[in-house]
Order: sequence, then C-alpha cells, then structure tokens
Amino acid sequence: MAPENPQQNRDARHLALPQVGEAGQERIAQATVLLIGVGGIGCAAANYLASSGVGQLTLCDFDTVDDTNLGRQVLYGPADVGALKADVAATGLARNNPGIRITAVAERLTGAALADAVSSSDVVLDGSDNFATRFQVNDACVAAGCCLISGSAIRLEGQLAVFGPDYRGSPCYRCLYSEADESLDNCAGNGVLAPVPGVIGTLMAVEALKFLAGITMAPGVLRLFDAASGEFSSVTVNKRSDCPTCGDAG
Ligand SMILES: [Zn+2]
Repeated sequence: MAPENPQQNRDARHLALPQVGEAGQERIAQATVLLIGVGGIGCAAANYLASSGVGQLTLCDFDTVDDTNLGRQVLYGPADVGALKADVAATGLARNNPGIRITAVAERLTGAALADAVSSSDVVLDGSDNFATRFQVNDACVAAGCCLISGSAIRLEGQLAVFGPDYRGSPCYRCLYSEADESLDNCAGNGVLAPVPGVIGTLMAVEALKFLAGITMAPGVLRLFDAASGEFSSVTVNKRSDCPTCGDAG
C-alpha cells in the first residue's frame, strides 16, 4: 500500500529496501552527520544526505563562493559568488528537504570546537582539500571513536575510504598518509574534471547512509576511481603500529 504522508512518500524507496526499511530509515532520521568542506565533493555528498533525510546535517566550510567553483560545486550559482559556501548550501538544501535540521558553520573548526563537533556526530565526511585539515579531522575521529569517510579528487582521479568507528583493530587515515602528499592537493594548479568530485562525494554519501542504516561495509579499504579508464580499484590499508594517531605510540 502506498504511504500516505509526504515524509513517507519521500522515504518510500528506502522503506521498500530490505537493507534499509523502517528501522534503517529511522536511524538515518535520528543521525547527526558532520560534513567538512562543501566544495565539489561536499556539494554532492550534502545533496544526497539531505534528500535522504539525515536528521541533523552540519556543514562546515569557512570559504566563500568563487566563480572558478561554479563548474563543479553544484549547489552554487553566479548570484552566490562572494557569499559563504556553508550558508548558501544550507539554504539550498533546506529547500530540498525542509524536514531536516541543517546547521551552517562558516569557520575553520580546530581543537576543542572540532573535537566537540566530531564527538556529537554519528559519522563524519571529510571532503576538504588539504592535508592539514584531513589530519586534524582524522585525529578527532580516532579520539572520539567516530566513523570517518574521507574522499578526495584531482585531475581525472578520485579516491575514498571508510575508517573506524572502532580503531583498535583497523587503520585510520594517517595509517594511509603519514605525511602530506602534495600531489593530491591543489585543484587550482592541477585541474579536475568536474564530475569526478561529484562521483566521490556521491559514493561518500552511499557509505554514510549504509553505515547509518547498519549495512555491513569494509573499513580500511581505499577505493580508487580512474575516470580515464572508467575503472575502480581497491587497496587494503594496513594498520601501522607506528601511526602517530592510532598506533602503539599514538
Ligand atoms: Zn592510524
């Protein structure tokens, strides 16, 4: 029988999925998701997290919209140039799904503020564009025992991985990158094909919704997307005993 109210209608295709169903959709509706960076990756991820009914979505980005963003950061248009990304994204997503809570944090979260935001979240998506932020977010997730879904995209290449929430036997982001890899930073200098961050952000939303709905997934697997060949490959990330964050000395 068809659901009768608008919320159930929005959720109908999830409710019909045996892997999500009412129980999974309720967990999604009760969840708090922290999204770091609302650029090309974050715009795609936020769109699906909001439309899927994540109860509390916190968008963190200190940056303003620039006209070089418009080709791939699909929540923004020419009228938004100069405005704060977190604010514009929150306004647009609230139109998409008025039934959820969206908080815009238009500042760079660090230290105790980052730790607070992470520890009050069920899952963190990191779509930021630099290693300094990724390392801080990872360290906060390991400290809080929070699931981290990390993604990046550059040129015709993208990658994503899920870490935690139990880091005792599984790796963290710093087990993968102990030091900054400059070749993965700086879209401006290297260029990026517009939909590639969208592919990665969308897959990050897939993993977040699976995690919230309780669908088994494999933490500590790095998935690589090569747009040139159209192929995905996977690499197992080993936990490093000398990891500065989750290792024996961490
Ligand atoms: Zn580690």
